[in-house]
Amino acid sequence: MSAKSLAILGSTGSIGKQSLDVCRKCGYGVKALTAYSSEKEMENQAREFNPEVVALVDEKAARELKTRLADTDIKVLSGVEGVCECAVLSGADTVLNSIVGMAGLKPTLEAIRAKKKIALANKETLVAGGKLVMAEAEKNGVQILPVDSEHSAIFQCLQGKPSNRALKKIILTASGGPFFGKTAQELKNVTVENALKHPNWSMGAKITIDSATMMNKGLELIEAVWLFSVKPEDIEIVVHRESIVHSAVEYDDNSVIAQLGLPDMRIPIQYALTYPERFESPAGELSLSQIGRLSFFEPDYDTFKCINICKNAINKGGLCTAAVNSANEQANLMFRQGKIGFLDIAEKVEEVLECTAYRDEYTFDDVMEVDRFAREYVMR
Ligand code: NDP
Ligand code: MG
Repeated sequence: MSAKSLAILGSTGSIGKQSLDVCRKCGYGVKALTAYSSEKEMENQAREFNPEVVALVDEKAARELKTRLADTDIKVLSGVEGVCECAVLSGADTVLNSIVGMAGLKPTLEAIRAKKKIALANKETLVAGGKLVMAEAEKNGVQILPVDSEHSAIFQCLQGKPSNRALKKIILTASGGPFFGKTAQELKNVTVENALKHPNWSMGAKITIDSATMMNKGLELIEAVWLFSVKPEDIEIVVHRESIVHSAVEYDDNSVIAQLGLPDMRIPIQYALTYPERFESPAGELSLSQIGRLSFFEPDYDTFKCINICKNAINKGGLCTAAVNSANEQANLMFRQGKIGFLDIAEKVEEVLECTAYRDEYTFDDVMEVDRFAREYVMR
């Protein structure tokens, strides 16, 4: 059944704003909104969508927002607890998680326990705690619908799949980012400004840097392993510069099914909300003749080391992917702050992976402990 009433976590971000655009178009009710500290944007959103409750993690910003919204009936909460309260709100049937980073893990788990339908953009949730999330989803009979464009594409290509055996492999496409074709030597001194210039997508700063290092594709490989119960070796990564083919699947009979569309996140966001139905979209129509040609390449694994670091982490298993994710979150931030160079990101993440021990069983608290360790390691 498609979504009717939503809690949007991370509503002031790139995905959050585009999700609200889809809600405008589809007429869905917005019952809760959350962000970290963007009180002005949150006030505007709250006034337009009139949710029951809003939450900001930052206490000071939440106090400010409360004053701003004093003339309304909207409840204003604060802290991580406030975000989690929004995630379990009884008035919402679906939680769209577009928080950036593994801060999204706790609210995702709480929303699953409250049996909400989950539309998940926040890939770090699955990279850091995929095993916990999938186990909780199974236990509670909750479906996780992907928002990430590649995973939405794969999910769409899998509709009508006859049996488990029929799927041979997943073809995960990657734009290649702003540094496609560059050598490691050329990447040594690239600036934050260079790295933030993505050729096809307009996104938040963290994921834009992840696209430049191609860590994003490594994280997405891990995301696909959890979402579609496949082995890492059954996922082929292909660089596709135009970002028109959003991913594909190959079946046992060598038939390849792909999903295509303009690079506009409102298409996958909307599908996660309307699934299994489809409605008109605010996004534009694809004209293949106007696009003219589509190109595909093998990734340069030697220059963009993050893809194989992620493959090694998921093959090692246990908490290794959580360690890689947290190390990357910290290194990505430090690069944006001008504290480390572009190539240091992969190096730091690899070092953290090397000193993370495999452990089969783990809890949420273990993930948080690995998170602290990884961030401290990168900072020292
Ligand atoms: P943005 O940085 O644009 O937005 C992040 C949102 O999360 C903001 O609302 C922000 O609030 C909030 N936030 C930040 N830190 C925290 C925290 N610690 N706790 C709670 N909320 C927090 O990110 P994007 O929209 O680009 O990305 C969101 C997620 O979606 C990421 O996981 C990304 O990988 C994924 N994704 C994004 C795509 C895109 O096109 N942008 C495509 C595919 C996946 P505030 O404004 O107050 O800082
Ligand atoms: Mg993606």
